[in-house]
Amino acid sequence: MLTLEGVCAGYSVVPVLKDVSLRVEPGQFVAIVGPNGAGKTTLFKTISGIVRPSAGSIQFEGIDLLAVPAAARPHLGIAHVPEGRQVFPSLSVMENLEMGAMTAAGQRGWKENIERIFALMPVLAERRSQVAGTLSGGEQQMLAIGRGLASAPKLLMLDEPSMGLAPAIADFIFEKLQEIRAQTKLTILLVEQRVAEALESADRGYVLEAGRVVLEGNNATLRADDRIRQAYLGM
Ligand code: ATP
Repeated sequence: MLTLEGVCAGYSVVPVLKDVSLRVEPGQFVAIVGPNGAGKTTLFKTISGIVRPSAGSIQFEGIDLLAVPAAARPHLGIAHVPEGRQVFPSLSVMENLEMGAMTAAGQRGWKENIERIFALMPVLAERRSQVAGTLSGGEQQMLAIGRGLASAPKLLMLDEPSMGLAPAIADFIFEKLQEIRAQTKLTILLVEQRVAEALESADRGYVLEAGRVVLEGNNATLRADDRIRQAYLGM
């Protein structure tokens, strides 16, 4: 579904991603893990078009993504749920969800999608008229995920959904991701610093360090890898 080949990208004179190649097959749950500053957010921004690569190629369902402007990429079925939630704080929960449904698929499937989103995350239904800025951190994260789902995506990209949340709330978010996956069969690409949880949820993973993919494999292989166990799982 998504293929990156030899992608190099960064900010003006700062190179961040160095020769990154990765593949996400339809229906897979793929995790990207790695330390602070490894380039995980930059990788997502490159896929969604906020950052333009200096080299390499990105294909989405056989389409050359680099020929598609950033604003048009959600319409292909790519939803990017950014780091730090970034809900519209002065809009209500419902208005935030409606903003997510601006794609043609989101408009077509609105009724069905909103029912599914509310069934998955009933707190959003209970608070549909509440201004988003007054939600708790965990609720805002659910709203950000709901907004992504409202676009009826084929690929849901989640940048550190557990960031800044208490451990119990973060665990709850991971459970929600598993439910979303079981119910929607969506393709999910997740960036996470909570490596144990990310590799437990995902089918495959990539380890990004200093802008390079240093390790990749299915979740069992990565969880058994000595480097992962020592560097990320505290074993
Ligand atoms: P974190 O988990 O801390 O968000 P990350 O793996 O997502 O880390 P990035 O946010 O992609 O890493 O950052 C990679 C590098 O790019 C870092 O050295 C960072 O300082 C730098 N960087 C990020 N955004 C910019 C920017 N807008 N301008 C210049 N450098 C940037």
